[in-house]
Amino acid sequence: MVELDFKCDRCGKVIPAGTAYVSLTRNIEQVEHNVIENEDEIRLLHADELLTLCTSCGSSFDTEHLINIIKNLPGNYTEVKNN
Ligand SMILES: [Zn+2]
Repeated sequence: MVELDFKCDRCGKVIPAGTAYVSLTRNIEQVEHNVIENEDEIRLLHADELLTLCTSCGSSFDTEHLINIIKNLPGNYTEVKNN
């Protein structure tokens, strides 16, 4: 059995198995139409886990503030280097 070594990327505490945690993930998804069920489905094409946080660290974020920061990130990284 493989033991996963989950640690909080912010405080470094081990996140034991059976414990809830917060995961920030970048997904590439595609909407598809399932003709058998006659409903739209989201197909996950690729996922990159950006951050794994214990619930204490993960719950300290204001989600709306985090969304605003991500929405306002420049798409061109030379802009980040210049600021
Ligand atoms: Zn933490």
